[in-house]
Amino acid sequence: MENYYAGNPLNRLSYLRSSQAFLTSALRSAKAKFLPLDSLSPLCKHDKDGARHLHFVGWKDVEAVVGEAEQVFAGVDGKRDEDVPELAVLGLQAKRLGKTRVGDLSHDEKMRYFLDQPALVFLGVDERSAPESAKSLPVSKPDEHSTLETHSPYGEPYWALDVSALPDLKEKILQANEGAKFMELRSGAQTMPTQEASIAAEARALVDWNTRNKFCPACARPIRSVWAGWKRSCIPGEPSADGVDGQATACISRKGVHNFSYPRTDPVVIMAVLSPDGEKILLGRQRTWPARFYSCLAGFLEAGESLEEAVRREVYEEAGIVVGDVGYHSSQPWPFPASLMFGCWGVAKTEEIRVDLDNELEDARFFTRDQVLKVIQSTKPMQLSREQVARIDGKEGASSDKHDLEDAKKKADDEGSFLMPPATAIANTLVRAWATGKLFNQAPASVSKM
Ligand SMILES: [Zn+2]
Repeated sequence: MENYYAGNPLNRLSYLRSSQAFLTSALRSAKAKFLPLDSLSPLCKHDKDGARHLHFVGWKDVEAVVGEAEQVFAGVDGKRDEDVPELAVLGLQAKRLGKTRVGDLSHDEKMRYFLDQPALVFLGVDERSAPESAKSLPVSKPDEHSTLETHSPYGEPYWALDVSALPDLKEKILQANEGAKFMELRSGAQTMPTQEASIAAEARALVDWNTRNKFCPACARPIRSVWAGWKRSCIPGEPSADGVDGQATACISRKGVHNFSYPRTDPVVIMAVLSPDGEKILLGRQRTWPARFYSCLAGFLEAGESLEEAVRREVYEEAGIVVGDVGYHSSQPWPFPASLMFGCWGVAKTEEIRVDLDNELEDARFFTRDQVLKVIQSTKPMQLSREQVARIDGKEGASSDKHDLEDAKKKADDEGSFLMPPATAIANTLVRAWATGKLFNQAPASVSKM
């Protein structure tokens, strides 16, 4: 079972993220593809059939803002503090500051320098055209002679670059790539082939994480990107954001294991909850959602909670239903901004619904299999507009008034007619799996005789 935004075809080569030699050759390779993102919207282009595709640019297009390839990944393993003063001042900032070495910058310049550096992330190599024997394996240990050619001779390196704060580059890219636009990933994503969507998901999540984590959570000093965008490292010896001298206290993030140095993945449970007899499914709607839109209940996992416990707690809090058995169906990366959706099923022990407990839902109800099948069979694939996405995200405030709610409830009662999330959402996968008798899929096909 593979949900939308999963199925990434790239070989991420995580063991090469700390190799300066490898990254340098992958950066300036004629085969390198750079996905520019503007405010997290990737550069895309529609083909003649209306399908959306990611649109890439080359090293020559971005070199001036990224910096000399040989210098970009100096000190990239983040191991030696003494590397920092020797780092080259990169890209546009070298020109603006008129200095070549980080060690020559004043404290203020240094802080701005690291804060302003555009996020650059190595996404992996596309080896789909490579013969099996030429695919990169973790056994090929990197050294100072590692290159793209020695590790992945057929690989096409993929990169993501945040161009949000680079208006000149944005304009140049748009002018040189007719028909290409920065398009928000979520609305209209349905027309993007799934493997491209999974690359976009990786790029969006990582650029977002790098952009939002500019200061060390332990000591408030600026942090820098290491491991080609997959780790952020506190810069020792720098003054903290409030000007306190950095020499005085060593940062705790320099020792031991610290999760704030690495990109986050926040677990969410989303569940198909069935009536005690398994013949109905519980769906709910928030008041800000488009009229007649119903979906699976969902919620963030809390600290010290198992998936099963989170399912039971959320369903009880949102709908007053007590859930007994709980199981797992499939998962989906959800890069808005950094979730992993755990698609679960649960069987209710009670049927009396209450939405007045935490007041998160406006309505929740059990739908019959016939009602759900009718929606699956009759509705054209639902395309969410930008406005509807904003509503589902709760950004537009409560826009469905009492009249809309009554109308939605009446329609759901009378006709069994409602709207479901699009096929790109795991909620759709779960509801569809239940309606077609495929929700309990745990026995692996290869050992089905066990
Ligand atoms: Zn720190």
